[in-house]
Amino acid sequence: SAKEKGRNQYHLFDPDLNEFRKQRREQLTEIARALENDEFCLYFQPQIRLSDNRLMGFEALIRWQHPEHGLLAPGQFLPTLENSYLEVPLGQWVLKEAIHQMNIWREAGHRFGVSINISAQHLMDRSFADYLESYLHSHPGLDPGLVTLEVLESTALEDTKHASNVLSRCREMGLQVGLDDFGTGFSSLTYLRTLPVDMIKIDQSFVLNMLTNANDRAIVESVIFLAQRFSRPVLAEGVETPDHARALRSMGCDQIQGFGIARPLPAGEVLAWANDWDQKYKPGSEPGQSDTLFP
Ligand code: C2E
Ligand code: MG
Ligand code: MG
Ligand code: MG
Repeated sequence: SAKEKGRNQYHLFDPDLNEFRKQRREQLTEIARALENDEFCLYFQPQIRLSDNRLMGFEALIRWQHPEHGLLAPGQFLPTLENSYLEVPLGQWVLKEAIHQMNIWREAGHRFGVSINISAQHLMDRSFADYLESYLHSHPGLDPGLVTLEVLESTALEDTKHASNVLSRCREMGLQVGLDDFGTGFSSLTYLRTLPVDMIKIDQSFVLNMLTNANDRAIVESVIFLAQRFSRPVLAEGVETPDHARALRSMGCDQIQGFGIARPLPAGEVLAWANDWDQKYKPGSEPGQSDTLFP
């Protein structure tokens, strides 16, 4: 009978679902422990301005130094975290740590920007702007204008009004807002129109193949054009080769980020890397020379 069939299907599916839930619970417990034990860290990937090869700042990217499994990338644990009770605490840790790191560089005499990825659930946290403000205030002298909050288009899906309000308040505090992975969502143009946004990041999926795929190239060119019409700077991710950088420069892209410049670096390697970069590409020397971009 249909009822029997239904029951059989239920029994077939149930153990898997339970197994899935069990694994998720276990990983969440592990993440809670890892937070306690300070096993998370931030890596930093350089962002370069194309007009003069100047190092503008870094995107903070989370890693988990797991005692048994080694260094884990966000794709290996962020999905588990999504919409869990730990998403906000980990997001708070990231904010605090990124701002703390910025301040260390400031004390060393550098004005590096830092871009921080903010998850949808975290941005919706009612006191998000309050503790962000308190983290900033705990480092007097730190310029909030150097902080960019990277939000995904999907962030605003649930409550666009609230997302807009929070982001507006952050901008009043002097922070910048960037729209991450632009073009990958279903409503990119709507968000560009409704969210208070200072800059746009073109997703790497378009950049990686733009030299061989005419459609991808058309999309990259169009997003750059769109950003210019909105008077917003635009940064391209996924710059893996000098040819990517050259093409983006000729299209009028403002900034680039990618393995071709540097992989994300541990915090302790950032100052040496920045020093190297400045030696090779003294700001102002031969601005715009495409063949000077890479060693
Ligand atoms: P995203 O914000 O779009 O970050 C860029 C990702 O592209 C990073 O991966 C970076 O390592 C990678 N990438 C950079 N240049 C290249 C390149 O030239 N080629 C290729 N193939 N990849 C490149 P990662 O670090 O694994 O981060 C993945 C995603 O995880 C990030 O995408 C971001 O959405 C999320 N994420 C990372 N850290 C955080 C965080 O602290 N908080 C939140 N909420 N999300 C984070
Ligand atoms: Mg990002
Ligand atoms: Mg991105
Ligand atoms: Mg991405």
